[in-house]
Amino acid sequence: MPHAPYRLRFRFAKQARQFTFPLLAALAPVLVGVPLMLWQAERELTAQTQESFDYAMRKVESIFDYAEVATHQVRYLVGAPCKSAVFALRQQSMATPFVRSLNLVSDGQIYCTSLQGTGRYPEQSQNYSAGRLRLMAGNQVTPQRAVIVFRLPSPGGSVLAGIDSQYVINVLQLAERDLTLKLQIGDYQLASDGTVSPAPWDANGTIPERFSSQYPFRLRATLAPGSLWHTLESDFLPILGLLILCGALMFWLMLKRRSPAQELERALRDGEFVPYYQPFVDADTDRWNGAEVLVRWRHPGEGIIPPDQFIPLAESSGMIVPLTQALMHRVASELTSRLAELPHGFHIGFNLSAAHCHDWRLLDDCQRFLDTFPPGRITLVLELTEREPFRATPHTFRLFERLREMGILIALDDFGTGSVGLDYLRHFRVDYLKVDRSYVTMADEDILSRHLLDNIVDLAQRLALTVIAEGVETPAQNTYLRNHGVRYLQGYLYARPAPLRDILARLKSPPSRAASESRGACPDLS
Ligand code: C2E
Ligand code: CA
Ligand code: CA
Repeated sequence: MPHAPYRLRFRFAKQARQFTFPLLAALAPVLVGVPLMLWQAERELTAQTQESFDYAMRKVESIFDYAEVATHQVRYLVGAPCKSAVFALRQQSMATPFVRSLNLVSDGQIYCTSLQGTGRYPEQSQNYSAGRLRLMAGNQVTPQRAVIVFRLPSPGGSVLAGIDSQYVINVLQLAERDLTLKLQIGDYQLASDGTVSPAPWDANGTIPERFSSQYPFRLRATLAPGSLWHTLESDFLPILGLLILCGALMFWLMLKRRSPAQELERALRDGEFVPYYQPFVDADTDRWNGAEVLVRWRHPGEGIIPPDQFIPLAESSGMIVPLTQALMHRVASELTSRLAELPHGFHIGFNLSAAHCHDWRLLDDCQRFLDTFPPGRITLVLELTEREPFRATPHTFRLFERLREMGILIALDDFGTGSVGLDYLRHFRVDYLKVDRSYVTMADEDILSRHLLDNIVDLAQRLALTVIAEGVETPAQNTYLRNHGVRYLQGYLYARPAPLRDILARLKSPPSRAASESRGACPDLS
């Protein structure tokens, strides 16, 4: 079966096409909404970062403000002997929040500290950022704990204020969720976990940062991985849910909204109307003589839909002509590839709606069909229903004359159910009368019913028309009809309507055998 994968692909492509537009429309709110939400989430993150900067900047600057005030207070002690100065230093450092120690520097040496009194340590003023601030991982007093030193230069030396980093760390820890703040002084940075490390070089300026306008330090922010998603999740998840719901609703509405006529049009475009065939038997020769084409709608979701459910709509919506044309085209191409399996002159009957019988294009449609086969290889039969007889006008008369000239045969379908008069039959020179199934079933019933059937058959014979009995289901009907001179027999007894492949298999056995087989378990192919 080399064609099977191709057919599967084709079917899939068709279904995909059918859903593409509603799907796109359904995805539109999500496709538009998600980038907007991402943009909004990004803006929100930036705003959060700025807020954290504002808050931390205010707090850290105020800590340094205290250090600045304290160093100013003891500035006059620079150069004074430590013994006389140390008491004032201690008092001032205890009275000033955040300041752990105050130190006096003279001649580049720290000579007096509020913690240890007299000492001698190099000041290392070159390590101070802008000569004012220094970040150290620890000092002699607290080697494990970061210290920030505030420096106030003064004539002859300077004052140093040691600030406990814990206060600054507390501020850094108050940053918004998903945001990590760091304080950078010179080339070092203090993280919110208290560690001091060399600050990374940010050549491209990708790390958000804020410089202090008062002191030589900056704050840097790092966003935690997935922070955008967290913001989306917490702030936009309900909106996203709503958008998906809107999309799903739109999808459902668009699929439902299609009117039945639009759905029919789509099905025609997608080639979902397929021919089934029901063969009929020549009672004289006991051979298969031809087949009637009965359309089926192979719906992608609903499965096989019988013609009664869509032919009336196709007729009222003006689609019956294109539908029949498509069907004729499909039958022609199906038959060409299997022509060798059909007897010469095999009859192929199409059901025609009244609208098509007034349409001059019918001639082209029939000609195109016949041109597909060698001359005489297939006999084309057009079945017109008696239920809905078309108007006999000079126009239709000419049309039928042309059809006859082309060798096309006309059958009057559902005979006995309408009120077609003898004039009509003569006018259009019908070739076959198809006795309606409602009469055929009478063969099994009482004498009165059989009498009605006899009358119909007699009438047809008196008009010298060939009779086809449709809907032959039982051997009793079969025998009765044959005994009463009915020439052609069509019905479930012989074969149910089925796709060409199945019908060709059936045609391989003679009708009598097919009939006896069908009395067993006949698969329901219709
Ligand atoms: P119809 O032309 O009278 O076709 C005969 C109907 O009787 C078919 O029904 C056939 O399946 C069914 N049938 C055949 N033998 C038996 C039997 O032994 N027992 C029973 N119970 N039924 C039998 P189907 O295929 O459902 O078609 C219904 C009608 O739809 C057709 O009646 C015809 O009027 C219309 N139709 C079918 N195909 C087309 C088409 O391509 N164009 C138009 N315009 N009408 C179509
Ligand atoms: Ca018919
Ligand atoms: Ca019929």
